[in-house]
Amino acid sequence: MNEERLPAAFTAAMKEMLGQEADAFLHSYTLPRTQGLRFNTLKSTPGSAPAAQAAALFGLTPVPWCPSGYYYEDPARPGRHPFHAAGLYYIQEPSAMSAAELLAPLPGETVLDLAAAPGGKTTHLASLMQGQGLLVSNEIHPERAKILAENVERLGISHALVTSATPGELSRRFAGVFDRIMLDAPCSGEGMFRKDPAAVSEWSLDHVKMCAERQWDILQDAYLMLKPGGSMVYSTCTFNRLENEETISRFTRAYPDMELITQKRLWPHHEKGEGHFVALLHKAAASGSGEAERSGSKRSGGKGKNGPRVHASLRDAYQQFSDWAAKELPGFNGQGSPLLFGESLYLLPEAFNERLHTGLLDGLKVPRAGLHLAHLKKNRIEPAHALAMSLQPGQAARHYDLAADSPELQAWLRGESLAVPAELHGWTLVTVEGLPVSWGKASLGQLKNHLPKGLRIQKAHLEEA
Ligand code: SAM
Repeated sequence: MNEERLPAAFTAAMKEMLGQEADAFLHSYTLPRTQGLRFNTLKSTPGSAPAAQAAALFGLTPVPWCPSGYYYEDPARPGRHPFHAAGLYYIQEPSAMSAAELLAPLPGETVLDLAAAPGGKTTHLASLMQGQGLLVSNEIHPERAKILAENVERLGISHALVTSATPGELSRRFAGVFDRIMLDAPCSGEGMFRKDPAAVSEWSLDHVKMCAERQWDILQDAYLMLKPGGSMVYSTCTFNRLENEETISRFTRAYPDMELITQKRLWPHHEKGEGHFVALLHKAAASGSGEAERSGSKRSGGKGKNGPRVHASLRDAYQQFSDWAAKELPGFNGQGSPLLFGESLYLLPEAFNERLHTGLLDGLKVPRAGLHLAHLKKNRIEPAHALAMSLQPGQAARHYDLAADSPELQAWLRGESLAVPAELHGWTLVTVEGLPVSWGKASLGQLKNHLPKGLRIQKAHLEEA
């Protein structure tokens, strides 16, 4: 991008802020943008066979601040490779990888990602949590929440709930609940100018002020939801002080029990990345407000010794699934409480019922209440795509593996059926180099394609890969 296209008020503000360094900073906008991907360690470690194959194919080089993060350069198109469909990695701007690393959630914790779509930080948090505990991923805009849910499913995450609520709606329900909160705030996007020229035309000083006010509002809800003794990361992809340091100091002044542990900037003229601001804050353990006991988040009653009361139709539905799984998924060990939405059966993460209660979800938009197990048809089960994506091949009674570069895999990803040995019969987990991509149903030498229609790939798209 040409430096002349930057808003004059932005250039002037950055010159004032950076002094002699401003030229190097402004010059960075004329250079090609940096691109990265982060391996999904729920599926595979960076050293594993498919990851090594991806590293060689895309010429990956490590991102210094994220052990699972790598740079790639044009003309590599990892977003178009079947490994992407299989959830082996998430395409993420490298500086943005610093935020979840700083929050460093532990397996088993209760974690909130308050502004989560499309899912870069959520999928990173889920990896760091090793799929254990509870992750609530929220996105205020319903259409973006759908994309978030798709990414959560693609990466095979089973301990996350995807909600679509305002921060206020959430803080009224989940006060004092979370060990860690990620607030990757909506911002004026000065770090997006190189990637997205539309961000340049939306920028103005008034927009910066509006963003800062909105960030302040969201931070107050985040505060209410953080447990005493808990940690929070506030991040943005913008450079001005108002939305970064000044928002944080306004916050710590208003809430003296919040201590700023560290705040860092990744600058595009210092590091290889588009730039990010990240701040880690800690809430004092003896904080008096927002505790679960006061908020009533943990309700006694409504929950028996063995978990929530289960409605008869739900019990039947779960029994139907369990009977199916006993035959078809001998290695399945999903833990949690079943929930039924229409004909869709979900498995709410166990930690949700242990720590909270399902009444908290009443009236809330929950595009994904944990792991989607199945669609219940009249006298049969149709296993959900999300279930396939969460499995290891050995957990299914049958799996059928395709090579990443095979024409069969391309045909499968376009939604076509495959000819298979006649002995293969029934629900089959279809994998690419050992990584699930979907269900297929085998009968009489044909494997019928159950990859959801919306995820099927157009022929031209694959050829561009
Ligand atoms: N964390 C995401 C990721 O890593 O993929 C990116 C989040 S983006 C920087 C900020 C998100 O905040 C957007 O998805 C936007 O829809 C959402 N948002 C906008 N207004 C909001 C509000 N008032 N409260 C909460 N979230 C809001």
